[in-house]
Amino acid sequence: MSQHPIRTIVIVGGGTAGWMTAAALSKTLGDSIAIRLVESDDIGTVGVGESTIPMIRRFNQALGIDEADFVRATRATYKLGIEFCDWGHEGERYMHGFGRFGQDLGALDFHHYWLRQHHAGKEHDLGRYSINQMAARTNRFMPADPALANSPLGDITHAYHVDAGLYARYLRTYAEARGVRRTEGKVVDTVLRTADGHVDAVRLQHGELLHGDLFIDCSGFRALLIGAAMGSGWEDWRHWLPCDSAWAVPCASAGEPLPYTRATARPAGWQWRIGLQHRTGNGHVFSSAHMDDDAARTILLANLDGAPLAEPKLLRFGAGRRTAPWQRNVVAIGLSSGFLEPLESTSIHMIQTAIARLLAFFPDRAFAQADSDEYNRQSAFESERIRDFLILHYHATRRTGTAFWDHCRTMALPDSLQARLELWRSRGRIVREGGELFSEVGWLQVLVGQGIAASGYHALADVPGEQQVANHLAGVAAVMRKCVDVMPAHGAYINHLLRSNNRESHATASQ
Ligand code: FAD
Repeated sequence: MSQHPIRTIVIVGGGTAGWMTAAALSKTLGDSIAIRLVESDDIGTVGVGESTIPMIRRFNQALGIDEADFVRATRATYKLGIEFCDWGHEGERYMHGFGRFGQDLGALDFHHYWLRQHHAGKEHDLGRYSINQMAARTNRFMPADPALANSPLGDITHAYHVDAGLYARYLRTYAEARGVRRTEGKVVDTVLRTADGHVDAVRLQHGELLHGDLFIDCSGFRALLIGAAMGSGWEDWRHWLPCDSAWAVPCASAGEPLPYTRATARPAGWQWRIGLQHRTGNGHVFSSAHMDDDAARTILLANLDGAPLAEPKLLRFGAGRRTAPWQRNVVAIGLSSGFLEPLESTSIHMIQTAIARLLAFFPDRAFAQADSDEYNRQSAFESERIRDFLILHYHATRRTGTAFWDHCRTMALPDSLQARLELWRSRGRIVREGGELFSEVGWLQVLVGQGIAASGYHALADVPGEQQVANHLAGVAAVMRKCVDVMPAHGAYINHLLRSNNRESHATASQ
């Protein structure tokens, strides 16, 4: 037992980051530590962030959240991956589907055999070896069936599209039920201890002081504590990720929701489309150095599936990260700790990993420097690897004729990404370092999808006979097709889930 345990945690901010943190800490710490959260309805939240990646299911499981309840409360749909339109070249499309690919043959990754056949001119469609991609193409969905561990139906890997406002509300109910105390109010000042520069309290507009031992800065882009009070530095990545603005607008749904996010390249950025149960979320992410706000807004409104349901909202940001997201007794989680790009839906995931890291290095009031140093080192590694993956999408293009894409295509790359591309280009190798978010098959799909050619493949892929490799690939593709045929339509699956959850709730209520 520590002699100086943390007694009070103050979370500043009640967006997705604030409430995810409050929910996870209240579940993990029980009532051993008082948790207070302050947020301001006047300021509000960023209001976007509706596309997730599969690791969110681990977060929900750790919190003991029931999937049907979650899907109902957040008006969620399922997500099997992201479809990229017009990125490699206008008119092209490919998908980054979650989960496994193919079936390994011998000691090598599946993709080396695919590359061998591709080089022989016999293989072009990588997607037919992914159960997620095959299901997405036909708008089908079911979750992985654990009873079918040897079938691709046991490999389906899903995430969700959620309504951001409803998600924060859902987590708030969860956290408050576990003792988190919410205070409505505006933080106007931070009181520092003279002895060590730690935060002693935050002052609210009406004068109240909220004291704490540990402060979590979830104040979004304002970064009230980590930036203004702690002065933690900022690493700017805008030269690699030049998009710095977005117009966001919801619109009426048109037809069945798709089980994937769509990201369509535009002349100075790209547009997202996220189908929920009750509406479609849209946004146009663009570089203000290459397009003015009005032009960007016009492009967004001209490319909606249905009537807009609100006035478009303009958001500004800059790609980069805090050099020290944990400084003294302040830990920044969410947008206050940095932001890259919404393109691969990594931001909510990074909130989740920051919470997990905080729990792994949970401090006492001595705040050992070694703990925060390691926390910061791990955060940097995570952000840099995700950054490289995002840069790849912009750089790997044959689009010409617009200043934005010309810049992206010709820009100098970080050394870490350059090294990866060389490994791929020579022998189709993809190396994932421990702890990196994106898997080999994630990189594979983007590299192939955006037309970066590998001039060779693993030498050992030539060991099996040509016919054996051809039969193996054909067999895998045939199994994928058969599996997809038995899957329900995405919309039908959601309706079924919600109906059965309704019946269960009624049954429980009448017991
Ligand atoms: P915010 O939502 O801004 O919350 C900040 C909180 O701090 C609010 O409650 C606010 O009231 C409070 N606050 C601020 N100042 C004060 C003050 N002085 N006093 C009291 N309270 C204060 N992520 C994904 O994973 N997937 C996506 O698809 C995705 N799309 C995105 C698209 C865009 C254009 C952008 C900009 C981001 C996107 N993100 C996405 C990121 C995602 O939106 C955020 O990571 C997530 O919403 C968390 O935000 P936050 O809680 O850190 O900040």
